Amino acid sequence: MITVLAGGVGAARFLRGLTRVVPAAQVTAVVNVGDDLERFGLRICPDLDSITYWLAGVVHPEQQWGRADERHVVAGELERFGHESWFTLGDRDLGVHLHRTMRLREGVPLSAATAEVTRAFEVEVQLLPATDDTVETRITTVDGRDLHFQEYWVRERAAPEVAGVRLAGAEAARPAPGVLEAIADAEVIVVAPSNPVVSIDTILAVPGIREALGHATAPVIGISPIIGGKVVRGMAHRLLPAIGAEVSAAGVAAHYGDLLDGMVIDTVDADQADRIEVPTRVTDTVMDDPDVAAALARTCLALAGDLTSDVPR
Ligand code: GDP
Ligand code: CA
Repeated sequence: MITVLAGGVGAARFLRGLTRVVPAAQVTAVVNVGDDLERFGLRICPDLDSITYWLAGVVHPEQQWGRADERHVVAGELERFGHESWFTLGDRDLGVHLHRTMRLREGVPLSAATAEVTRAFEVEVQLLPATDDTVETRITTVDGRDLHFQEYWVRERAAPEVAGVRLAGAEAARPAPGVLEAIADAEVIVVAPSNPVVSIDTILAVPGIREALGHATAPVIGISPIIGGKVVRGMAHRLLPAIGAEVSAAGVAAHYGDLLDGMVIDTVDADQADRIEVPTRVTDTVMDDPDVAAALARTCLALAGDLTSDVPR
């Protein structure tokens, strides 16, 4: 079994490659829920949904999130009432949010509602929210505001200077059912190329998850989301400096520290390998092409294999 710590699009692109190399049913993704928000009374889980849409082959190809062949009739009608429209909600996408919200109101935990969604989309990778409890990534800005992650990221386009990042509600949160087992039972654990601050750290902030990774027998392999000092997409470069990390592959590896047993970085960053303390492999990591994603997955498994004896290759 392979367990992947996952944010949104970067992780989804990796999982698409990984499932070309190993059967999808052997893959579990532990997914960030710090980005989740409530809009119009609906529970929206951007990272869970991005991964679902990618693995189901229904993601919007240019946008890389949301649904292909999408319409925005409902959003247009809501604007009529003066509702702010900074968070895009397509009509097809709304179907998922409506179902999920209905089930949550009936008392079904998010992990079970997520399993219903993935089953309906015929996604065989097991997607586990890091926690079923309500947590929320909050951004404090240098100008003294306290924003929900999506207000900072989407509404304000990551423009404000960041003073701090925290996962509100983390202290009382418990890992969702299956999360600790997926970490303990894994043969390989991969930290996907996701935003280290607001996707991976927010998973690690759920009490018990970091400890479980420390005790896991499987090697933990990180993939750098930073290539040549830049992000492939998104604004992760705005958040790393805010937590004192260098915006580079070596900076991400140093930030993860002793969580990692191995690291995979992009070819353009080859000269950083000797600054990374764990065994490091250098390969093409820009996953626009699913074949590249599959090759990257193979590199991760091979590195894990070199670090242990009994993992699938
Ligand atoms: P979200 O989609 O906004 O939730 O973002 P993620 O948590 O997936 O993180 C975005 C990060 O993924 C950014 O730092 C990107 O540089 C990185 N990323 C996206 N696609 C790729 C890729 O193909 N290769 C690598 N190495 N990183 C990627
Ligand atoms: Ca995200």
